[in-house]
Amino acid sequence: MNTEHANPGEAVMEFRGVTKVYGEAESAVAALAGVDFRVDQGEFVAIMGPSGSGKSTCMNILGCLDTPTGGTYLFKGVDAGRLSRKQRARLRRYYLGFVFQGFNLLARTSAIENVELPLIYRGTKARERRERAQRALELVGLKGREDHTPAELSGGQQQRVAIARAMVTDPAVLLADEPTGNLDSARSEEIMELLTKLNREQGITIAMVTHEPDMAEYAGRRILFHDGLVASDTRTTPKRG
Ligand code: ADP
Repeated sequence: MNTEHANPGEAVMEFRGVTKVYGEAESAVAALAGVDFRVDQGEFVAIMGPSGSGKSTCMNILGCLDTPTGGTYLFKGVDAGRLSRKQRARLRRYYLGFVFQGFNLLARTSAIENVELPLIYRGTKARERRERAQRALELVGLKGREDHTPAELSGGQQQRVAIARAMVTDPAVLLADEPTGNLDSARSEEIMELLTKLNREQGITIAMVTHEPDMAEYAGRRILFHDGLVASDTRTTPKRG
């Protein structure tokens, strides 16, 4: 359990009237048209909605890669829109882990070196880096595969390496963008079971974009976007692996 971030019920991410407008005047597009929601510590949230509904824009703001045009995004009570670029980069490095559809691993680099990368950016010493990366790989079920390159691993295993890389810094939040989009259904379920385990056992807060209802069933909450607005926000009993 990561006690540093373990305060269940505390707001981790909160949108207050968030708007995001791309372009100007007649060509302006409101990707987000006034969005309110809050995600508490320990939640597992699926973000859904048709193409163009604002999911990616929402994730980019949640991940402090972009800032709102209007309204406020609070990350752990801090107004992320008021931070400098450098402060936002720091916030990402210390509090957020990212997982993508395409895994985004370095090709000619071993699993353990891929997992160590975020710790290199943090300036962690070599020995501690190695130990933490080893533990992270064990956590995702890849003990013994430390020296394999991505090409020597299956798609599901590559996504596990990517999840280990996201977890190695002990982030407060894991942001996953279609994490099962490139996997077959059996491998997808394994990845969802792993995310469920990390959420329950490590207490990590997860926000995941998916267009697959089967995958969203693993989350305890579903936020559905439509035309840049939250169309529904429902809590359900999550599917167990
Ligand atoms: P989704 O992820 O649900 O497909 P997006 O957040 O990518 O939706 O997009 C929401 C709307 O904002 C769409 O109409 C899209 O065309 C527009 N949009 C997104 N990013 C940009 C951008 N960088 N420049 C202009 N329009 C954008």
